[in-house]
Amino acid sequence: MATKNNTPKKQHFSMNNRRKFIKQLSGLAALVGLPSAGFAAISGLTQGDKDKKKGNKTAPKRKLGAPMIVTTWNFGLQANEAAWPTLQQGGKALDAIEQGIRQCENDPTERSVGYGGRPDRDGHVTLDACIMDEKGNIGSVVCMEHIANPISVARAVMEKTPHVMLAGEGATQFAVEQGFEKVNLLVPDSEREWKEWLKKAEYTPVINIENHDTIGMIAMDGKGDLSGGCSTSGMAFKMHGRIGDSPIIGAGLYVDNEVGAVTATGQGEEVIRVVGSFRVVEEMRHGASPQEACEQAVKAIRDKFVLRGKDWSNTQIGFIAINPQGDIGAYALRPGFTYAVKTGDVAEVRKASYLLD
Ligand code: ASP
Repeated sequence: MATKNNTPKKQHFSMNNRRKFIKQLSGLAALVGLPSAGFAAISGLTQGDKDKKKGNKTAPKRKLGAPMIVTTWNFGLQANEAAWPTLQQGGKALDAIEQGIRQCENDPTERSVGYGGRPDRDGHVTLDACIMDEKGNIGSVVCMEHIANPISVARAVMEKTPHVMLAGEGATQFAVEQGFEKVNLLVPDSEREWKEWLKKAEYTPVINIENHDTIGMIAMDGKGDLSGGCSTSGMAFKMHGRIGDSPIIGAGLYVDNEVGAVTATGQGEEVIRVVGSFRVVEEMRHGASPQEACEQAVKAIRDKFVLRGKDWSNTQIGFIAINPQGDIGAYALRPGFTYAVKTGDVAEVRKASYLLD
């Protein structure tokens, strides 16, 4: 450890010194015949930096894509139908995402999303949602009550505030200011289920593998641009204030226009633990196909269970992923995860492959 007397003086490497140093290196590079790209690497200037300096556009050119939508669970089929006309008419993936997810949020028979979602253990229906576009714009609402379309509020957070996430009463207040109507989200069927649950009030935060949950939708439009969104009421009878992965950018959703779009469903705590959707995108960035990348993320979740000595028998996790080439990946921890695919030729629900029997 350095003592007071022998602490080395901090090298003050000012901008001027840095420039001088780079100039000297430049001369040296010319002397020894290093190519300019080599020098760019030494100086820290990437080709992109140099292009920017020259005023060149650095964004790589994209091929026109064939529109597609992939959505979690069986309810994805109807949501895809609601989203498809926008893509078919040459619209943006972001708009399609919002329209598709709204369809599911507005359906009172879908009891894990939006209006009609199951309450927490105190009887509050608290909703989580997030959205991300091809440029990295993001918006999210967490634990928001009384508003039926959290996906649209998340989009408003993204487009109309300097922030990316609003929570609880603040989110509801913002939504009302934006003209969203306040409604009672607790439909009679959900209320009845909750009252039944209250008789024992066993707090077992287990996601039944038959009873999932988040709508996660990822899409590519005709320009080849990717976007995604997700929306959920989270785990039924959760603790008041509990937030899962779904509204957390990187966990429940991630989009990188050059690499792919990913969303997750299942027990959010486990997805957050491995920053699941970002992880899948990063696997793709390093060469994995969407399928391989989903598999690697699910295995990483399994490994965390093993490491912590925990049982996964009542847990379900699923990921879906697309890349700009139109490849699709889907993988789950256990059997039972389905997803809906919509393209110009296909409208169907598929069963995801899985890790554990
Ligand atoms: N991921 C959601 C949550 O943990 C629930 C689900 O998709 O099953 O809130």
